[in-house]
Amino acid sequence: MIHFSCDRCKRMIDAGAEPRFVVRIEIDAVLEPTATDQADEDRDYLKEIDEALEAMDLDEEFCDREEPLRRTYDLCEECYQRFLRDPLSVETTMHFGFSHN
Ligand SMILES: [Zn+2]
Repeated sequence: MIHFSCDRCKRMIDAGAEPRFVVRIEIDAVLEPTATDQADEDRDYLKEIDEALEAMDLDEEFCDREEPLRRTYDLCEECYQRFLRDPLSVETTMHFGFSHN
């Protein structure tokens, strides 16, 4: 029997008794060709990408990639619901810290 654990809360998921939610994330680092010519100075896209990656703890592995970064996560139902409500962990990071154990 295959056992799964939730990638977020680490709880064991009994695959025969409860749903397991598989979240697939694909990330492209996109720098628009015109970004330097017509930069929207009110918005720092690179910083936003950095912050999004930081929130997911992927920044180091992401460096110098040309292929999209793909990740798959198994989530229990509770974490899946939380993920749906707050996919970028904005609330979670502010209140609890994403990697809090
Ligand atoms: Zn969970």
